Order: sequence, then structure tokens, then C-alpha cells
Amino acid sequence: MNNYELLIERIAKSAKLEKVEVERKVEAKKAKLSGLISKEGAAQIIAAELGINFEDQELKVSELMAGMRKVNIVGKVVNIFPVREFEKNDRKGKVANFILADETGSTRVVLWDINHIALIEDETIKVGDTIEIKNGSTRDSEIHLSGFSEIKKSSVKMDNVKEAPVASEVNLDEVRQGQNIKVRGTVVQVFQPRFYHVCPTCNKKVVAGEDEKYKCAEHGVVEKKDRAILNFVLDDGIETMRVVMFSDQIGQVVPEEDLKDEAKATAFRDDFLGTEIYLNGRVNRNQLFNNLEIVASGIERVDVEKLIEKLDKKD
Ligand SMILES: [Zn+2]
Repeated sequence: MNNYELLIERIAKSAKLEKVEVERKVEAKKAKLSGLISKEGAAQIIAAELGINFEDQELKVSELMAGMRKVNIVGKVVNIFPVREFEKNDRKGKVANFILADETGSTRVVLWDINHIALIEDETIKVGDTIEIKNGSTRDSEIHLSGFSEIKKSSVKMDNVKEAPVASEVNLDEVRQGQNIKVRGTVVQVFQPRFYHVCPTCNKKVVAGEDEKYKCAEHGVVEKKDRAILNFVLDDGIETMRVVMFSDQIGQVVPEEDLKDEAKATAFRDDFLGTEIYLNGRVNRNQLFNNLEIVASGIERVDVEKLIEKLDKKD
């Protein structure tokens, strides 16, 4: 179930309505707002109008949405980042970040309170621990804890957690920087692949010196390896956006070797153009053009048969 479906189910249960009825209300709200709002956003408005709030309920990671307060959640700490110090308006502070996962996905948790941060610093909370959070709030898809929030170890056992970030299914006109998204669209433009060179041992970028030899800072003169970057434009019917695919993702649509062969590369571009895909990725700001683009983390060609089956079931 995706984020939206979970939300509909929760609203239906709380308001004692049929799911189809809730969905009808959401569609009506969306239409009334001339489609300026996402389905999830419209569902949140419906929830508020029905007097439902999600405060003080235990939520799953996939149910988190921007702007929630009093978030309670239980999850497993799967990664902890070094505590950072910062200075803002002559005030010194610290901030800690870790990744929390449950069976629906993972999200970042940000700690601002020194008492909470101390739990990370003295390793009371470590990677692999299950923890309980009370009274957190969300910013985008992250959970932020203030001095009013609680965090403690939990005795709940969680074995099967999903470490991949929860990607919200979105339209391209509503994406924000830093978001992990899933979007369905059509490839409307494919650019010539570009290549750069890396060290075959550490995969770091290498450039040729005046002697035309490629040098890695760590491994000296090396036999360079070519890596491809593929850019294309995706159109989801509402908006278009540029997508960047790096070497480790390209294999999902074409053997990377093929891109070095001009005839094969052209054949691939002809074939890929017009293809309908599901794209997973992270929204990033391109520093050079100062616009948003998607860095691909997964691509799947839409299986039309499967899609028809899914739509039939919905009716
Ligand atoms: Zn190297």
C-alpha cells in the first residue's frame, strides 16, 4: 500500500466511512482546488474537515507527511551520523541525525535537544537499537525532536525493517528539493551520454596530467575506467523534469558498454525515447542551472499489462 492508500484507510477507519466515500471526497476537494494540491494534501484537508487528527497515534514511517505534530513512532536505528556543531546568530548549538526504519521504510530523525543528543554521544542509543519517539514533529519527511519530545529505547523487537527511504508518489509540479520520490512518466528527450574517467581501484574521478597519464591521488598512475552519465527528460503529463542517471543505475535500462558504441547508443536512444517508466530518485538542485532535477535511484519500465490489471481491480 502506498502513502496515499494508507492515509485513506486511516481516515475511513477514524471517520467510520467507506474508503470509496473518502476517496470521492478527496477527488471533489482536489477538483475544487483546480488540481493545485496533491491527492495526499487533499486527503489531509478532508481529515481535518472530518475532525480527525493523527496526533498521538502511533504512526508508520510511510504515513509521515509534512507538517505533522505530536508524532509517535517506534523504529530501529539503522544508521547514525556524526553529531555536528553549528553557530547561528551568535548561538552555538549541536544537531544529531540518524536513520530510523520500520517495516514500511526509513526516514531521517533530527535531534536538537542536548539531552537527546547526549544519548547518541554516550552510545545509550546505538545502531541496531529499537527506539520509541513521542511528540516529534515532521518537516518534509523528516522527524524533528525538540525539548518537548521524548526518545527512549524500546523493548519491541523489529527484525524485518525496510532500510530504503519511503518514496512518495508525486506529480512533478509538486516536488521539493531533498525529497525521495516515485513518479510515473514518459521519456520525452534523451541526451547524448557523457563519459568521465575513474580509478579502477577506488572509483574516484581521475584526470589526465600533461603527460596524458591518468593519476589517482591514492593509487598513482592508473589504467582509467570510463563511466557514463545519461541525462533524459521525463514528462508526467503535468510537468517535465530533467533526470540524471549515473553508472550504477544505467544498467537497468541499457548495458553501459553499449553507450560507448555509437550505433548501439543511437539504437538505445531511439528505443528509450517515448518509453513509459516508473522512476525512483532524489530531487536535487542543479547548481549550474539552478533548477530542480532528479537523480535516479531506480527505473522500471511500466508494464502495461500489469497496469491494466491494477486499474481493473480498482473499479
Ligand atoms: Zn584510486
